[in-house]
Amino acid sequence: MIPFNRPPVIEKSFEYMRQAAQEQGKICGDGIFTQKCSAWMEERFQAQKVLLTTSCTHALELAALLCGIQPGDEVIMPSYTFVSTANAFALRGAKIVFADIRPDTMNLDETLVEAAITPKTKAIVPVHYAGVGCEMDAILDIARRYNLLVVEDAAQGVMSTYHGKPLGTIGDLGCYSFHETKNYSMGEGGALVINRPELIERAEILREKGTNRSRFLRGQIDKYTWVDVGSSYLPSELNAAYLYAQLEAADAINEDRLRSWSAYWDALAPLQGEGLLELPYVPEGCRHNAHMFYIKVKDLEQRTKLIQFLKEQEIGTAFHYVPLHSSPAGAGQGRFCGSDRYTSQESERLLRLPMFYGIPKDTFSAVRKLLEDFFD
Ligand SMILES: *Cc1c(COP(=O)(O)O)cnc(C)c1O
Repeated sequence: MIPFNRPPVIEKSFEYMRQAAQEQGKICGDGIFTQKCSAWMEERFQAQKVLLTTSCTHALELAALLCGIQPGDEVIMPSYTFVSTANAFALRGAKIVFADIRPDTMNLDETLVEAAITPKTKAIVPVHYAGVGCEMDAILDIARRYNLLVVEDAAQGVMSTYHGKPLGTIGDLGCYSFHETKNYSMGEGGALVINRPELIERAEILREKGTNRSRFLRGQIDKYTWVDVGSSYLPSELNAAYLYAQLEAADAINEDRLRSWSAYWDALAPLQGEGLLELPYVPEGCRHNAHMFYIKVKDLEQRTKLIQFLKEQEIGTAFHYVPLHSSPAGAGQGRFCGSDRYTSQESERLLRLPMFYGIPKDTFSAVRKLLEDFFD
């Protein structure tokens, strides 16, 4: 049996969790392991500021608050994404304007963004699908010309780069996920990357229940108080301790995943050559993190049969994202701009194969064999 996903387990995590509880005597938020995780990311990704959060969903909510989204504002994003990308902005009363994706990367089609802009547009939210960067140069150029904010949904993009820059550090704000299914995991968790210094102080306040507790802890003020709206977006130290051991091992985890990705590619390239399926595409200038390995088959019907076939052979697979504009809530929260040339069609053909840190190396040839049987 090969599961679709297994969360990363690094032995050191348990020692760090023990240290947090027994030695530090601190398991609530913002202790030393939270600081270590933030500092690690700030240094590694050359980010101005990284705040650990309870999820990427919450990082996106913080981003929407920091963008000052007001009811009636419009936010442009792909329809092919997780609900949280849209929900975070819909919660602030924004209208979501969905634009079509590029069929090659499944990312927001940067050539369609400009046409989606209206006088009400406030932000663009590119989603780096599969940890492969969106065309950020083009997106930033549009954002500058129209004075819009860019929030990167880099939930899947930790350790990926676009023209050498880490995903999440390119726009005004970036959001990472450390959910169980992501490359680095603390169970539930995420981070907000703040690339504009003037947003840092308010971000700390929003994350700390609307108080200036962060300044208090740094000794900058002598009591802390309620200064703004906010909520509790601090993860527990236990989660941060669990994550920190993985960040220390980030290169080894990344390399293991990339080797597995390449092995899938080599195993399945002949099937692509025969026109039986399509493999993922990584544009020049993008270094990805092997977040997922997906294939595309002919259509929804073939995919449904293939999922069943692989399930019988004990291979776990996954697909995702009913395009948001066609979901019950999505239709009410926004509109699709232009025509849905690729979003629905491509999402129905895509199937994710098992991919996780330490995936057994005989998986790739086994999957190839099964796919050959299936297509026969
Ligand atoms: C996983 C994911 C999220 C949500 O992450 P959580 O940490 O589970 O809140 C948001 N956007 C995308 C694109 C994701 O893949």
